[in-house]
Formats: sequence, structure tokens, C-alpha cells
Amino acid sequence: MTIFEKIAARQIPAEIVHEEDDLLAFRDVNPQAPVHVLIVPKRCIPRIGEAVASDADILGRLMLAVGTVAAKLGVKDTGFRVAINHGRDAGESVPHLHIHLLAGRPLEWPPG
Ligand code: 5GP
Repeated sequence: MTIFEKIAARQIPAEIVHEEDDLLAFRDVNPQAPVHVLIVPKRCIPRIGEAVASDADILGRLMLAVGTVAAKLGVKDTGFRVAINHGRDAGESVPHLHIHLLAGRPLEWPPG
């Protein structure tokens, strides 16, 4: 099981901020902004570039959850950024697809 599957199974604690049947959102253990949440499918897709056509439904749900979570955490109006890291050069460290939702401070562009 990946770390995020263990969080979904409540085998590892996390501060969960939103849950749906097939996805979960919880605060990053090493936050890079005042609001830093990871939105993940409960079923592991290793990384975005390996998603397949049959993942289209969950990918859409994950994207829709971004707005829901941003509204829940009060950052939808002030703004937020989403990021997905794929592979070594992007700094991916957990092989389970996750959307970073960052907010609560001005976010530089371009990202480093
Ligand atoms: P990546 O670098 O793969 O895009 O992002 C992985 C993220 O997962 C990192 O921001 C890291 O802090 C977070 N993370 C790793 N292990 C855990 C954990 O056990 N719990 C939580 N809540 N976040 C984790």
C-alpha cells in the first residue's frame, strides 16, 4: 500500500479536510503555504502521466474537488494554486497521484 492508501484506510493519521466515496483531501505533513492540502484518489494511480482512459471519471472528480476544498478552507476568493508533480525532475516523492492545493500567501510565478 502507498502512504496515501494507508491514510485513506486510516492506518496512518492525517488531518482530513474533505472526503468523497473515491477521493480524500488532507493537510500536507510538511506544508509549503498556510494552506497546503493533498487531494488524492483512494485507489492508487501512480502518477498523472500514467493515467488511462478508464481513470477519466476519477480525474474529473479530483479536479472538481479542488474548488470544493478551496471553498471549505476559505481560500476560493483569495486564490490558490494546484500542482501535480510527475517524476524525478518535478520532485515527485510519493508514487500515488496527488494534487497539491496551496494557498494563504502570495504564490510566486513561475514556480521554482
Ligand atoms: P510530491 O513531492 O510527491 O509531489 O508530494 C508528496 C507530498 O506528500 C509532500 O508534500 C509531503 O510533504 C507529503 N507527505 C509525505 N508523506 C506524508 C504523510 O505521511 N502524511 C501527509 N499528510 N503528507 C505526506
